[in-house]
Amino acid sequence: MSVTTRFAPSPTGMLHIGGARTALFNYLFAKRHNGKFLLRIEDTDRARSTDEATAAILEGMEWLGLTPDAPPVMQFDQAARHTEIALDMIARGTAFRCYATPEELQARRDLGEEKRQAAKAEGISEDEKTALLAEANELLAPYRSPWRDGAAAPSEDAPYTVRLRAPDGGDRVLEDGVQGRVTIQASELDDMILLRADGTPTYMLAVVVDDHDMGVTHVIRGDDHLRNAFRQIPIYEAMGWDIPKFAHVSLIHGPDGAKLSKRHGALSTLAYRDMGYLPEAMKAYLLRLGWSHGDQEIFTEDEAIALFDIGGINKAPARLDLEKLGQINAHFIRLADDERLFSLLKPLLEAEAPLTEAETARIRAALPGMKDRGTTLPELAAAFAFLRDIRPIQMNKKARKSLSEEGLDRLVGLRDELQQLRQWTAETISHVISSYCADRDLSMGQVGQPLRAALTGGLPAPDIAPVLEWLGKDETLGRIEDQTALDRD
Ligand code: GLU
Repeated sequence: MSVTTRFAPSPTGMLHIGGARTALFNYLFAKRHNGKFLLRIEDTDRARSTDEATAAILEGMEWLGLTPDAPPVMQFDQAARHTEIALDMIARGTAFRCYATPEELQARRDLGEEKRQAAKAEGISEDEKTALLAEANELLAPYRSPWRDGAAAPSEDAPYTVRLRAPDGGDRVLEDGVQGRVTIQASELDDMILLRADGTPTYMLAVVVDDHDMGVTHVIRGDDHLRNAFRQIPIYEAMGWDIPKFAHVSLIHGPDGAKLSKRHGALSTLAYRDMGYLPEAMKAYLLRLGWSHGDQEIFTEDEAIALFDIGGINKAPARLDLEKLGQINAHFIRLADDERLFSLLKPLLEAEAPLTEAETARIRAALPGMKDRGTTLPELAAAFAFLRDIRPIQMNKKARKSLSEEGLDRLVGLRDELQQLRQWTAETISHVISSYCADRDLSMGQVGQPLRAALTGGLPAPDIAPVLEWLGKDETLGRIEDQTALDRD
């Protein structure tokens, strides 16, 4: 079975996280089956579609690495093809020209509404009420055109729309990959418009024609389109085309269970990039937002491709959980390649001042040992502050306290020992510090605290020996000297 999926966003705004998840599911499903993942920009709503939105969607997908296997299809460009299919359907007798005017249709709805109100009036008999409601229901029911069975046009040049001849009666059943079996009555479907009076194709027609032309075998999308599937399937039937498999994924909800909205935080995928989340973390998080495989929490892309299935998509709406996103991000930061991480951190590190050569060397040296120091890139960047050119160092209160006369004496002694050290590695440094402590019967803390104060000003830093290694011998001794010299003044 060859598989083709597609992501079909409307370019009316950013790529929101729900859309990104839909794209991801389609991408993974295609990759899982060695199929194709396609992108279609549904820009038929000319008033609301913008080039900026298209660019933002492409940028979001590129950031996530959801690369389509062909250049995007622009839906509006296919309009002639959509029209051609509508005319073909007329020829087949599955669509027809409808001469009802918008005014007539409105009048019909108004009359229906009037009858419904009239049925509520006081003093009318049960029989009258039943009759009025029946009439109202008929008038307000999904529209079935009087021209559906080939009645003649009212005049030769009467304007018309082209409508689909909706299925006549009985049940309509959809075996949805996520929602299971869904049934509606055919009478709930109207003879929907395929070509408007001005000849332009409708969205509902365009989606089906494009999905067919693109060879789409599986439509995975938000469950806000579930009812549309019932309207779209008759078009496939009318053309004798294969009907794709549908999977309608429940929407994402906020942590409080309410429909996702601005007050739940950022909705735009790129906002997460800007907050310092890695794309692989975002993907792993979006994957778990609505899909599961056993108890596993974090999947690499390769694992996800090997395991993704529509059956694992949860029917219940997923809830946004930013704490979990943080944990997953921390995980992928630890896995990230040093060079890449450095280039991601660099703009953040340079936000206030460009990195000097010495700072760059120290930060590069520290990076492998510092990856667990932040759940987002800005947090991680902030953790490198003690490796900048910060002499003379600003002390926090606790740090200043540990630089008592005693503390400074110990630093002077240690500095002399460190000065002798030829090979400057965390291991040799650690050895010097421990033997210095042992020789003088001092605890590690009695030396480590003033040392940390002198080197970082009290900023949180990991184990002390690596800090000395990253700073390098000159900078380390210089920072110690700053404090001990101050003392002598
Ligand atoms: N363009 C539609 C949307 O952005 C998606 C239609 C579809 O996936 O079939 O909601």
